[in-house]
Amino acid sequence: MTSAQIRQKFLDFFASKGHQIVASSSLIPLNDPTILFTNAGMNQFKDVFLGFDKRSYTRATSSQKCVRAGGKHNDLENVGYTARHHTFFEMLGNFSFGDYFKRDAIFFAWEFLTGPEWLAIPKEKLMVTVYATDDEAFDIWHQEIGIPSDRIVRIGDNKGPGVSDNFWQMGDTGPCGPCTEIFYDHGAHHWGGPPGSAEEDGDRFIEIWNNVFMQFNRDEAGVLHPLPKPSVDTGMGLERISAVMQGVHANYEIDLFQHLLAAAKRETGAADADSPSLRVIADHIRSCAFLIADGALPANDGRGYVLRRITRRAVRHGYKLGQKGYFFHKLVAPLAEVMGDAYPELRQRQEHIVEAIKNEEEIFGRTLENGMALLDTVLAGGKQVLDGDVAFKLSDTYGFPIDLTADVCRERNVTVDIAGFEAALDVQRKQSKAAGSFKMTAGLAYEGEASCFHGYTEASRSAKVLALYKGS
Ligand code: ATP
Ligand code: MG
Ligand code: MG
Ligand code: MG
Repeated sequence: MTSAQIRQKFLDFFASKGHQIVASSSLIPLNDPTILFTNAGMNQFKDVFLGFDKRSYTRATSSQKCVRAGGKHNDLENVGYTARHHTFFEMLGNFSFGDYFKRDAIFFAWEFLTGPEWLAIPKEKLMVTVYATDDEAFDIWHQEIGIPSDRIVRIGDNKGPGVSDNFWQMGDTGPCGPCTEIFYDHGAHHWGGPPGSAEEDGDRFIEIWNNVFMQFNRDEAGVLHPLPKPSVDTGMGLERISAVMQGVHANYEIDLFQHLLAAAKRETGAADADSPSLRVIADHIRSCAFLIADGALPANDGRGYVLRRITRRAVRHGYKLGQKGYFFHKLVAPLAEVMGDAYPELRQRQEHIVEAIKNEEEIFGRTLENGMALLDTVLAGGKQVLDGDVAFKLSDTYGFPIDLTADVCRERNVTVDIAGFEAALDVQRKQSKAAGSFKMTAGLAYEGEASCFHGYTEASRSAKVLALYKGS
């Protein structure tokens, strides 16, 4: 089954259960400063859950473009290291706005995954988790669906990165609630343990589907207020379920990625088809192209800075593979070939996307080689920790966002003195304040994920790119 067929089957299944098929919303959230990019299918329905907005339907289904590269859900550092994380992915979802609740949600999910005319996944390959105190969900899985109790794990609130939790929230504030998740066991030949175990961060048991029982709105003080009506929000990663259906382990092995990986190999001239750098590049072209299609552009702050970081990381991985020329923009066409049918904006804005990426490659291309030479020289001394002032110089003079420097260092088992970097940044900020200067410096101040986006500054766009964007 191809990814396109799975996407369609999912929408057909939920349409047959009375759900309205709703198109994906933009990756750039409209009027919502609480998230950086759209990170889940429920984002476009946030106000419906909160009771501020009413639709003509109470059940919906969608395949939503998501980017998790900053904010509460950030998987940028996982890309290239796990089998299952992307910066850009598609989330299949079904939603109930005060209509059905736990029982129907669980029955729908199980029927879609295991029903003979749907995905027909062998039941014994699946495991589930429920919120620690959610006896109701536990009983539905155990008594009604028939899952043995040793395959149902109770898990509580978030305990930190890499650890499962069964209370989902879109951001620090907003709709949230306990959830039940479904995991697929890829087999004992892969490292990792079941959810809740010490080895859960391995890639043997991969989470495929999260069903959230939306019950609360978390306010700025962290207090939970009940929603007007209990609701359901679910999310299943299309790439992860495609891997299951195509009998492969890593998302990168599915049909959608083959064409992109081949193009990345061709355009970088990489010798090794299995290089993790090719996976990073294939991942990053999707987030970069889709973000630009939705109106983002590389910039020095806010959302545009996240895009700049992802683009530069990809370019640096190409450089690592031996490609010293501009290659990244050449992957837009192969991407449009595989995803343009499902997302026509890729073709409609193709020329603009190519120009925007090429522009960024040219800017970074001026300093990348010298920056890498500096980093190589410093690291050649066998250092375990990269000094903060070197990281600062790389950022300030050579346009290396701090996470890019950290990415290179991580490959060489070196850590970065982030506190030292921030101290150097602080000194620079104070100096430029004292000088009363509002001029843009050559450097790329790392504003972190908290920096808020208030629209693009015209200065951050090259005239050519801007003209193309306006015209598209
Ligand atoms: P994980 O624990 O693997 O990081 P998650 O619990 O953060 O996943 P959810 O927020 O529950 O993920 O999102 C719902 C679904 O979206 C997941 O079950 C998974 O199928 C998919 N998904 C989440 N993050 C990613 C990602 N970075 N790349 C691809 N698919 C993802
Ligand atoms: Mg995650
Ligand atoms: Mg998880
Ligand atoms: Mg989850």
